[in-house]
Formats: sequence, C-alpha cells, structure tokens
Amino acid sequence: MGRQATSLLDVKDVLEERKAHILVKAAGCSGGRICCEKESIAGSISQRACVYCGARVVLNPITDAVHLVHGPIGCASYTWDLRGSLSSQANLFRNSFSTDLREQDIIFGGEKKLSAALEEIITGYKPTPRLIFVYATCVVGVIGDDIEAVCRHQEKKHGLRIIPVKSSGFVGAKPMGYKLACAALMDLMGDGPPGKQPGVNILGDYNHGGEAWIIEGYLRKIGVKVIAKITGDSTYDQLLKAPSATLNIVECSGSMAYLTKQMEEKFGIPFMKVRFIGFEDIRDSLVKIADFIGGPAMVARAVRLADEEQARIGPIIEEYKKKLTGKTAAVCVGGTYKAIAMIRQLKEFGIKPVFIGTQHGTAEDYKIIHDFSADGAVILNDTSPTEIEKYIKEKKPDLFVGNVKERTLSLKMGIPFVDFNHDRKYPLTTYEGMINFARELHLTANSPVWKWAGSDLESAGRVHHDVSHLKVRLAP
Ligand code: SF4
Repeated sequence: MGRQATSLLDVKDVLEERKAHILVKAAGCSGGRICCEKESIAGSISQRACVYCGARVVLNPITDAVHLVHGPIGCASYTWDLRGSLSSQANLFRNSFSTDLREQDIIFGGEKKLSAALEEIITGYKPTPRLIFVYATCVVGVIGDDIEAVCRHQEKKHGLRIIPVKSSGFVGAKPMGYKLACAALMDLMGDGPPGKQPGVNILGDYNHGGEAWIIEGYLRKIGVKVIAKITGDSTYDQLLKAPSATLNIVECSGSMAYLTKQMEEKFGIPFMKVRFIGFEDIRDSLVKIADFIGGPAMVARAVRLADEEQARIGPIIEEYKKKLTGKTAAVCVGGTYKAIAMIRQLKEFGIKPVFIGTQHGTAEDYKIIHDFSADGAVILNDTSPTEIEKYIKEKKPDLFVGNVKERTLSLKMGIPFVDFNHDRKYPLTTYEGMINFARELHLTANSPVWKWAGSDLESAGRVHHDVSHLKVRLAP
C-alpha cells in the first residue's frame, strides 16, 4: 500500500472566514476580541437552532398555556420532552399541538386550518385554556398566512388570550426567536397591574431540573419575595403580576435581553445579572439581590445563608475535588452566560477548561470568558462539529461537558462526556446542584470504562473519519 490515509480534518481544517470567530488565550493576555453576534458562515455547519426553536425555548415553560405550532408536523417534533421544564401545577404545556400543514394548505393557504385548530382546542379541550401561543414556522412565512388576523379574530370570539409569534425560521437565528418570545411576553403583560410590591422576577431560569424552585427557596429564606418566574414553572396569572416587581434578576441574559430592556423602559424595573453556579457566584448573587431589595439586615441574612450552605456542602465538594483536581475539560454550551458560570464552577472543582465552545454571545461576555480562561484555552463562537473535533484532538481534555449535540462526537472520540443538557431531570446548578454536578463529573471522568474506549485521541479521531479501509467491491 504505502500510501497514508488522510483524515478529512487534515484537508479541510478551519474555514478562512471562521478564523475571526476563534480566540486562543495568550499567556497573561486580557481583553481578547472575538467576532460574534453575526450570522453563521455558509458551509461551517453551525449548530445553532432556528428562530422558531428560540421562541419555544422561552415560551414553552409557561405551564398553563397551549403552544400551537402552525406548520408541517416536523416542526412540532420540538416538544416538551426535548427541553423539559418542571411544573408545580399545570401540565398543559407538555402536550403537542400542530396544524400539520400539508401540500394543499401550502398551495391554498393555511389560515382556515389554523382557525379550525384554534376552534377545536378552545371548544374541545377541558378545562378551556386561557392562553394560547401560535408559532409561525418557515413555510407559514413563505405562504404569508396572516396569523395575526386569525388570532385576533379567535381571541375576540372566545374571550381568551391568543398571541401570535411570527417565528419563521429564516427571519434570523435563534436569538431572533428569543426576541420574538420576549415581545410576546410584553404583549401578554399589557400595561401591568397598578402599583409596585417589593420583590423580584426571576428571568431566564427555565426550571429544567427544579432550579427555579431552589433559588426561590433561597430568596424566601433571606426575605425576598418572588413575584414571577419567567418562564420556568410560570403561569398566565403569575406573568400578569410581573410588572409590579421592583427588580428583575436575570440568569440566562441571552434569551432575556430584549425583555429586560423592555420591562425597564415600560415598567421602570431595573435588572441585575445573577448566576447560581458555583460558590462564589451564588454568594455574590444573593448578596447583590439582598442589598438592592432590603439593605444591610437582608445582606447579613444572605451572607449567613451562603456561609451555612457552604459549610454544609463544602466538605462533600472537597471530597470530589480530590478526585477531579488537575483534570482538563472541554465545555460546549449554547450561550455565553452559561459558559462563564461553567468555567468558574469547574475551576472551583480543580478542573481546568481548555476549550470553550458557544453558539451565541456578546462581545462583552466573550471578553469575560477570555479573561477567566487559562492560558492556551481555545474559545469558539458559533461552534461546528468539525472545529470541535479539531480542537479536542489538539487539547486532549480529560472530559467533555456539553449538550446533546456534542454527546456522540465526544463518545466516538473516547472522551468521558458529562451531559449538561436540558432534558435532565435534576438540578446541576445551585448548592444542591453542585453536589450532583461534582458527583457526575467524578463518576464520568474516573469511570474505568474509558480505558476500553481507547485513550489515543489521534487514532480515535481517525476511526471516526478515515474511510480508506472501506473498499468498494465491484461486481466482475
Ligand atoms: S422548518 Fe423552519 S421553523 Fe420548522 S424546524 Fe425547520 S427551520 Fe425551524
């Protein structure tokens, strides 16, 4: 033979236009700049989801709402179980509703079908829903159905709220979906109730594993009332009260950026970015909130709570830390908010992040990621599987913390994978979640199974890409 097989990566490597979206932390350097908040480069196989998906992320956790997808049945495959969110009361949001548009509807228009679907839901579903979101998908944008008019007509006829979300996939990227969802929430809130009450809204926590409940519990302990959770475990009535809060505390700032600004302008509610991942960030967040809402006495309660919780779980975390210190990690998350929190959390566990991939983020957040990262760490905006593979092979991390999109790639390369995905059913953030997360990191990274997966990344990568051993046998 004599000829060495060439892996796909050796040939393709990184696209020229993508280079500005990749940042390597130089020794001692701060304030690194990365190209971000741009559309994906053609051919880069972006992992970003569509506009409609972004809108569903934000609105779907409203538990007593119907989420009606106006489009082909395929769009409706984005269901509750793909991105779970726990509810303390209603479970209506866990049902899937779709107008199931077919070829005839595309030719003659889908408005009649949408109207009929709304009638069917309103008259046939018991108890009658009080709130319906109607999501426009790509094809609806193409054929030009006037979903606004249909929703208005049905709203008037039946006396309930029906809010159209014009989330055709091609009107932008996922953040556009966030913005449209935030606009729908503003529409829902209207002018808000009269007067204010001291308390906060929790924005950008989707209660995937019950985290919003735990955070609400912390706040209750220090004397802070939660007016509304937006949108994890929220209800129609709760959302209507949100404009009366005195402060918005924001976790996922990417998805909530538009809402925070709008609520500040319209209702005069200031906002504060908070993080409930890692000892330092949880303490800082509780103290900041207490300082704003209640002053020194409340701050003292926040400090006491943080001290007590740290004393309670600190020894447990120390035990895991002994097993994790010195390991390196690759991290892939959707937004930069989570990336920042994740870097800080992993460092508290003694783990060094050497690769940080995100799909979206602001220049301000990437600067923070850069400054928090270790020297030599690679930071990517709008990741693609090809680039992830390239840098994983270069950086050779001991484990990979990511979402469902990276799971298969990581496992094929023989890298222990810790799932930080939205379909999990228990918390990985907050103090309680820290124990779960540390345990999962330890069990995954130190599992003996990886010795059978092969530790040679180079050969693992070649197995994935090199198809030269597959010979086509032609019939004689
Ligand atoms: S068809 Fe459009 S709206 Fe539906 S899932 Fe695909 S990109 Fe999103």
